[in-house]
Amino acid sequence: MSSSGILNRKVLVLNQSYEPLMVINAKRAIILVIKDKVEMLEKYAESIRSVKTKFDLPSVVKLNFYVHLKYKDIVLNRNNLLKRDNQECQYCGETKKPLTIDHVIPRNKGGQDTWENLVAACAKCNTKKGDFLLKNINMKLLKKPRKPSKIFHLQSYVNKNQDNWKRYLFMEG
Ligand SMILES: [Zn+2]
Repeated sequence: MSSSGILNRKVLVLNQSYEPLMVINAKRAIILVIKDKVEMLEKYAESIRSVKTKFDLPSVVKLNFYVHLKYKDIVLNRNNLLKRDNQECQYCGETKKPLTIDHVIPRNKGGQDTWENLVAACAKCNTKKGDFLLKNINMKLLKKPRKPSKIFHLQSYVNKNQDNWKRYLFMEG
């Protein structure tokens, strides 16, 4: 991996209280480490070398001070909807791309663009449903669509490189 790739690695930031706050890139996290704003709790296997020094590549950092953050809503967009729905059609469970976004209550029946009314749907289910209401067409949602929590959003960043995030994001049994 190139060094610029490494510097874009995701780093989980925890509040001083260990509350998960956000994800930043490694470049920003290293600056925070150097400025002594954060403590490095977990690191990636790779490290960053310059001519003179070698830096650990942070994976999870904890702030050395407590921040009171106003909760920022997760932006409602296609990408975040698909993340929330685990890239699965919410009618049949299909994961084949491309997935579409379906209005559960169709727009022409007053359905809004909200977390509760938008779901991922495969093209087939979207076409089948058309402008019907679910009760009129014998289709069901796999789960009730909700606004995702911040923790859920942070969890969606975790892949094979972020195994050591799980204990901080309540993902361990
Ligand atoms: Zn489907």
